[in-house]
Amino acid sequence: MAYKAKAARYEAMKYRRCGKSGLKLPEISLGLWHNFGSSDNYKTGRETVLTAFDAGVCHFDLANNYGPPPGSAEITFGKILKQNLMPYRGELIISTKAGYDMWPGPYGDWGSRKYLTASLDASLKRMGLDYVDIFYHHRPDPETPIEETMTALADIVRRGKALYAGISNYNAEQSARAISVLRALGVPCLIHQPSYSMLNRWIEDGLLDVLEKEGTGCICFSPLAQGLLTGRYLNGAIPAGSRASKGVFLKPSSITPQLVKKLNALNEIAKERNCALSTLAILWILRDKRCTSVLIGASSPSQLKENLTAVSQPPLSEKELQNIERILQIP
Ligand code: NDP
Repeated sequence: MAYKAKAARYEAMKYRRCGKSGLKLPEISLGLWHNFGSSDNYKTGRETVLTAFDAGVCHFDLANNYGPPPGSAEITFGKILKQNLMPYRGELIISTKAGYDMWPGPYGDWGSRKYLTASLDASLKRMGLDYVDIFYHHRPDPETPIEETMTALADIVRRGKALYAGISNYNAEQSARAISVLRALGVPCLIHQPSYSMLNRWIEDGLLDVLEKEGTGCICFSPLAQGLLTGRYLNGAIPAGSRASKGVFLKPSSITPQLVKKLNALNEIAKERNCALSTLAILWILRDKRCTSVLIGASSPSQLKENLTAVSQPPLSEKELQNIERILQIP
């Protein structure tokens, strides 16, 4: 399929500076954790990625283990690059990660120099790339000295295999340490990738302060709580094909009557401003300027389009924020 990106692709999207770096990221980025494995529909995945790029979403987030099976999302993305997006490589921010279980034996998991280096080489091969823009350590490793993991990241950047280094799932204290080790090695920590949503606010308890102080950006994953903060579960049922219906990462048991009540109360606020619950959830994250980008997932172009409407919505008012807070505080 011949593809020519929309000429107006940068007009509607807004971009935020990533910490104190030279890099800006779109307010909404697209992640390929789900929906891009080898058993998912390739055409739908490609259309979702191209719809995103046409709307100014120039950041795509991957990891070595995304699929299923692990590695297959990078293969899918490599195919989309080859078929459609490679002419735009200079306009793309592509990230990948290593840190979770990827291959058998002692070198396919956690945070050793051996694992990170070998994993990035394999990711580059799967995607058909010479370099990624951001390479993350995916989760803290309680056993490997942080100096070793951060030196591996710094060396990867020095060798030009990644342009920037990032960390993910590190708590406030671990982040401060990692950022300081990277700084001493002369490679700033560009970005942290933590989970964050209206239903999961752990980063407000110290991590955001550390990132602001250190000048590190923050890209928030699972901002829609894997689909809970969308129209998908408002009637309490579990739609066929939804993430909850698969029961692996989002358990049907988490959709309790209390949660459904809360989601519907939030949806009333969304309705008052004539937007979807997903849009409200994204706007709520964007209220905090320390959040550089909201890293969504989407299983179809139509979901993506609904979520992208957040960019053209006015920011949440004080009154709306107070009303949301009141609902979120209900146990
Ligand atoms: P979200 O919270 O945005 O959930 C995305 C899912 O919600 C979709 O796949 C879809 O699920 C549903 N959804 C999205 N929009 C709509 C809509 N408008 N209407 C109805 N349903 C909708 O994010 P993810 O949990 O997918 O995470 C996003 C990205 O974050 C990942 O792809 C990955 O890049 C990153 N991530 C990083 C992690 C880390 O450890 N660093 C861990 C997890 C994610 P469905 O249609 O299938 O029900």
